[in-house]
Amino acid sequence: MDSNPRVMVVYGTRPEAIKVAPVIAALRDAANLDVITVVTGQHREMLDQVNELFGIVPDHDLDIFEHGATLSQTVARVLERLDPILAAEQPAAVVVQGDTSTSTAAALAAFHRHVPVVHLEAGLRSGNIHSPFPEEANRKLTTQLAALHLAPTPVSKANLLTETVAAQDVVVTGNTVIDALLLAVGRDTPFTDPALEALAASGRRILLVTTHRRENWGGAMEGVGRALARLARTFPDLEILLPAHRNPIVREAVLPHLDGLPNVTVTEPLAYGEFTRVMSLATVVLTDSGGVQEEAPSLGKPVLVMRENTERPEAVDAGTVRLIGTDEERIVASVTELLTDPDAYAAMARATNPYGDGHAAARTVGAIACLLGLGERPQEFGAVSR
Ligand code: UDP
Repeated sequence: MDSNPRVMVVYGTRPEAIKVAPVIAALRDAANLDVITVVTGQHREMLDQVNELFGIVPDHDLDIFEHGATLSQTVARVLERLDPILAAEQPAAVVVQGDTSTSTAAALAAFHRHVPVVHLEAGLRSGNIHSPFPEEANRKLTTQLAALHLAPTPVSKANLLTETVAAQDVVVTGNTVIDALLLAVGRDTPFTDPALEALAASGRRILLVTTHRRENWGGAMEGVGRALARLARTFPDLEILLPAHRNPIVREAVLPHLDGLPNVTVTEPLAYGEFTRVMSLATVVLTDSGGVQEEAPSLGKPVLVMRENTERPEAVDAGTVRLIGTDEERIVASVTELLTDPDAYAAMARATNPYGDGHAAARTVGAIACLLGLGERPQEFGAVSR
């Protein structure tokens, strides 16, 4: 029975888990492929939360998480612990997602074993190797190792072709995050925290905030905390909701500024179903997250991005995402404009779907089958269907 080629999916952080979940489900459904799931545990609780939501029980857990581990320690542990699993399982291909230490280390481990690497969300480029750090370098390194590059958009495909990746090795699939988002918002998950249910029922305007980027740690994040405090005082009828990242460096920089403010709610990271629900309730989203930049435009939410550059220009071009950096004054001014100028708000609050149509996982599985000689090349996302 078990004669199908086995595709190993390796992932380790919350955003990777969200983006590979639809692919794992589609691989399970594929008649001619089997799937093996490996988590590295680069994140712990935030990763387990997503696996639970999508009903995934990993076949292997490298359990590498350690508080305060350096990037090199993380990479070294993945290499060391994945290698014997690759030797034992003999997968026909290894799928990695995005730009984390997990994905680059797993790609290298597979390459060392001559296993073809499939790179999901390939071809994103900010053009600055130091920002986002270390993600921009991770993506470029994984590109060098991959046999199949699954670009989410035509823009990311063009980046790969510029770097002389062969066109036949690139397929534009759309981003699987939109598959996950559509699945999750369709469920209309109840909130576990009664404070959030009350917030939803209040009908008040919500500013949803997430922040975690490594290059914003320290002074920039202190500025974010100060900006939020000023906004909370200026707009007492506004509810600011901050699901705080687990990283203590992030918490220590931002949370002290928000102490005692009645219209600021700080929560633990929300389970994905709950987070997608707060995104759909939000008036404005203020974030430095990559995934949130991709999801919120599909829900018609204006997104202010606390970064100087982005590897996701599509929604900026569509007008629903604006890069505002991390300067305290600019954050306050940009949020204030959206809260007080209905025309400025309306201009940004348009639903656009530049990142996917919900069928990226099916195209991904089609492209993997094609790589393994089991099917035709799928039609690309963004291509006009006849
Ligand atoms: N997310 C979540 N709960 C939260 C905050 C974010 O499930 O409390 C989801 C969000 O919808 C997105 C992903 O986590 O899909 C983004 O993760 P993060 O911002 O940590 O990483 P990035 O996308 O910047 O790599």
